[in-house]
Amino acid sequence: MQDDSLVSLDKQHLIHPVTNYHAHEHRGATILKSGQGAYLTDSTGKELLDAFSGLWCVNVGYGQESIVQAAEAQMRTLPYATGYFHFSSEPAIKLAAKLVEITPTSLQHVYFTLGGSDAVDSTIRFIVNYFNSLGKPQKKHFISIERGYHGSSSQSAGLTALPVFHRHFDLPLPNQHRIPCPYAYRNAQDTSPEAIIAESVMALKNKVEELGVDHVAAFFCEPVIGSGGVIVPPKGWLKAMQDCCNALGVLFVVDEVITGFGRTGPMFASLAEDVTPDLMTMAKGLTAGYAPMGAVMMSDAIYQGIADGCGPDAPVGHGYTYSAHPVSATIALEVIRLYEEGGLLANGQAVTCHFEAGLTAMLDHPLVGDARSRGLLGALELVANKNKKTPFDPALKLSERVSTAAYKHGLIFRAFADNILGFAPALCYTKEDFNLLFERLKRTLDDVL
Ligand code: PLP
Repeated sequence: MQDDSLVSLDKQHLIHPVTNYHAHEHRGATILKSGQGAYLTDSTGKELLDAFSGLWCVNVGYGQESIVQAAEAQMRTLPYATGYFHFSSEPAIKLAAKLVEITPTSLQHVYFTLGGSDAVDSTIRFIVNYFNSLGKPQKKHFISIERGYHGSSSQSAGLTALPVFHRHFDLPLPNQHRIPCPYAYRNAQDTSPEAIIAESVMALKNKVEELGVDHVAAFFCEPVIGSGGVIVPPKGWLKAMQDCCNALGVLFVVDEVITGFGRTGPMFASLAEDVTPDLMTMAKGLTAGYAPMGAVMMSDAIYQGIADGCGPDAPVGHGYTYSAHPVSATIALEVIRLYEEGGLLANGQAVTCHFEAGLTAMLDHPLVGDARSRGLLGALELVANKNKKTPFDPALKLSERVSTAAYKHGLIFRAFADNILGFAPALCYTKEDFNLLFERLKRTLDDVL
């Protein structure tokens, strides 16, 4: 039995992120109680297979005892240490050094945030500061990708190119621009990797030309466009975008908030493409959701530019009380140890074949028009007519019906706009977990046929 008094208090007082408030007052919350491995239990005792790792963050699965123990020990020893005014803490220092070790060689300095949105916001502030420091104050325009998601804080939500994050929020800002998404299933006339890459490169060049190269500060992208519907650009796309930025003199920022920490196979998607970003953002898998934390990493050139521009006495005026929080840093260190020494990165890579095979097999289902993935990040796109790729009429509220049916069958994933179903299973999944995922998914889709 769900505790009705809790549901009622939730409706009265708790504002839920990215939720229709009136619909929530009507529907009420599903209250989650506990988790173990890839499975959650709700407050009615119903067991649910989590195929989305929370919000693509619990990459190590639930109930990892060594993380709990590390966090508890750190809380007892030193629950808080500021990074302000030259103070520091051992976990924060070790984590910064570890991140420099496991990310592309271009990234040498780390600034810790509380999550992904403020990592992107911080990145924007650092870039603005950098170009002002260099004496190029006109370089203030930012370019991102249609359907890209970079957070929902004041500035990051403007780089996010999903209309729902702009509506009634006076976004995007006048200095935030977009180029088309490399969306093979929907956009491209020619779906060959070469054509998709060439189209994105041309679009970026044209946009920079239109704005004037002296005005464009940076290009932001996700290696796989996540919240916009798990859109997977071809291999070589990321590198081509970096080469284009380098040639134009525009900073190249890779947002690895979702794709970092084994989600697409390697520790970071940037490593697989051999790119060397000027700045990188990360969060989610950094602490695997066991505590809030994100980070911005930057090249030495950017760090030195900001440091020099500041002069001998003034601080760089950017900081959060909880930046480099020692408990979060301790958790991140243990989470990274689990990826590396605990074998989770290797397990994720080893079980990816079951994920890919399961998604591909779903193409036989009458509702499924497209199946796409990279590593353990994937999507199915549901269409009314497979040959014509006709989208379903939004009035049918198919996504809602799919989510309800999935819950009934004990499965959690994310139903995005445009009837795209997103999957991000934890790196601890076994072959049996995947069998169950696709068995429950088939029953779910059969229900809404
Ligand atoms: N960047 C990307 C690519 C994301 O997917 C997200 C969140 O989903 C963010 C930034 C924002 O992160 P957070 O929700 O931790 O603020």
